Amino acid sequence: MKDQLNRYLFDKIHVRGELAQANQAYQDIIANHDYPQQVQHLLGELLVATAMLTALLKFEGTIAVQLQGDGPMPLAVVNGNDQQQLRGVARVTGEITTGDLTELFNNKGYMVISISPKKGERYQGIVALDKPTLAQCLETYFLQSEQLKTHFWLRADDQHAAGIMLQAMPSDDDHQETSADDYSHLQQLTATIKDQELFELAPHDILHRLYNQEEVRVFEPQLLSYVCGCSAERSATAIISVGREEAESIISEQGHIEMNCDYCNTLYTFNSDDIAKLFNDPTDNQVH
Ligand SMILES: [Zn+2]
Repeated sequence: MKDQLNRYLFDKIHVRGELAQANQAYQDIIANHDYPQQVQHLLGELLVATAMLTALLKFEGTIAVQLQGDGPMPLAVVNGNDQQQLRGVARVTGEITTGDLTELFNNKGYMVISISPKKGERYQGIVALDKPTLAQCLETYFLQSEQLKTHFWLRADDQHAAGIMLQAMPSDDDHQETSADDYSHLQQLTATIKDQELFELAPHDILHRLYNQEEVRVFEPQLLSYVCGCSAERSATAIISVGREEAESIISEQGHIEMNCDYCNTLYTFNSDDIAKLFNDPTDNQVH
């Protein structure tokens, strides 16, 4: 089963939904890291949430969803783009004893959602991490910032990460405002999903299992994938920006320059020959 995100709409109730399954991308994100289990699961939820926000907020460009604050995990971030290519990393500096966000950040954490569109202004939204789960914090965010009733079910275990979202859409020319009863009916149906079903069933089977009494329109699925995007070329560009003098001084002290990618833990090593080539002006090679 491929990692994918399915968007759907109910025909008779003005509510939209998203179903995201990201098992492989999740495994790729936590590979090469030795995260405590709570941090690992939190990254899984953050990965699924970022994919869902990308589909929900509709932009062309990049998104970063960052949890930050004081405590043993000062930072967890997932980056993505409108092609649903995602990567993420968490920084752990102390002992993790809880996955409860209020305890993890001593009630002072926040989530920053940054969107950098290809065209237009950068957008940033901030949410206090004052609820135990990421799902609850996101629900508060949509209620406060957009006055939209929204529910998230975000699930991760050691192998899987997946989630569902429901959102009451604003009324427009063709649709009345969704009644509280209709919304709560769909919310109750969705809440019957079991973690194992969410992790392992095909999207079509999940939607059928939850909403077989409803009329649901499902859009073309979007594939999710893990793409780190780091490369030897990018590391070389970073070294060039540091300048020849600084680079050569590191080479003379350490014999080589090491650049480690925080996201995927790939180590790029440059020796003195590599550095000489990087800074070698091609015109110097001409025979005079
Ligand atoms: Zn990388």
